[in-house]
Amino acid sequence: MIYLNLAFDHELSLGGVTSSYEQNLFDPTRQILDLAGDLSVPVTFFTDVLCGIRFREWDSSGFSDSYEAQLQDAARRGHDVQLHLHPHWIDSTFGGGRFVPADRYALHDFRAEAPPNDIDGIVSRGVEFLDDVIRPVDASYRCRAFRAGGLVIEPSQEEIFVALRRQGIRFDSSSRSWSPILMSFKIFESCGCCKSINPWSRSEIKVCSCDGRM
Ligand SMILES: [Zn+2]
Repeated sequence: MIYLNLAFDHELSLGGVTSSYEQNLFDPTRQILDLAGDLSVPVTFFTDVLCGIRFREWDSSGFSDSYEAQLQDAARRGHDVQLHLHPHWIDSTFGGGRFVPADRYALHDFRAEAPPNDIDGIVSRGVEFLDDVIRPVDASYRCRAFRAGGLVIEPSQEEIFVALRRQGIRFDSSSRSWSPILMSFKIFESCGCCKSINPWSRSEIKVCSCDGRM
């Protein structure tokens, strides 16, 4: 039996938005939701939670209310929402209705920061945010999977995996020793570059349950 998990990054365009948030993110995502519904295929959205956290401060009515409503809509329709971290949002700024992206793109860049902007703090804040948004519509929700922004998990993968494990996250969809195009979910030990870390044995965890959710 082969299990497929269709997973999408759910995020604004890196580098800025030249159109509206609706055109850039919400409408394309709605089309995926509608198509997945027509096909009765559950999908996973790896959502850019640091964007959501920053926009709660910057512009609730202009972005984050719609953003969080879309995540809740996805969960209500039976899809999964999991953790995606683009850390540049931590340093990004907002003014005049527009955000300006900063240039520290990797979790590794934050390894020496003081909490809550260190790797552990970023991961835990991301999980807390997802719990806060999704549990009102799905009380059984748990964040259990992670995808690094740009799939960049090295060279701090050991520290990142410890932080993920502390939050109960069991699947990584970022580190890659295979194809940059075809993504597969991996239990932490399955990637050659991460074998030395290996927090769990492969036999402990099934990648997918039979309903297609992780
Ligand atoms: Zn992304």
